Amino acid sequence: MKFLLVDDSKTMRNIQKKVLSNFPGAEFAEAGDGIEALSVIAATPGGFDLIMVDWNMPNMDGITLVKKIREKDAKTLLVMATTEAEKARVLDAIRAGVNNYVVKPFTPEALTEKINATLAKAKAA
Ligand SMILES: [Mg+2]
Repeated sequence: MKFLLVDDSKTMRNIQKKVLSNFPGAEFAEAGDGIEALSVIAATPGGFDLIMVDWNMPNMDGITLVKKIREKDAKTLLVMATTEAEKARVLDAIRAGVNNYVVKPFTPEALTEKINATLAKAKAA
């Protein structure tokens, strides 16, 4: 499974990487903001199976990134990482095209569970 981890916090990316490396065939690319993420996506011909998107980032935030991705890609699974403060805006993220969201801080179990639920839902669709 190919993951792209987009977060301006390297610590958060490392936490995600550690948890998600339990998924079969996990491979990772990383980006520190939305602009970097778009160039990583453009430079990755096969694309990604799932992209973790932080909401708050410099240069280009997560919601803008989600909209940009969805302009040409309806398929890649997008999971938004929000803080408690952004939770009220989760509906905006869903309208923009995220498949699921996880509220930070999360436990390894909570993240794994969210990813499993996202995969199961995509499979059923
Ligand atoms: Mg952030």
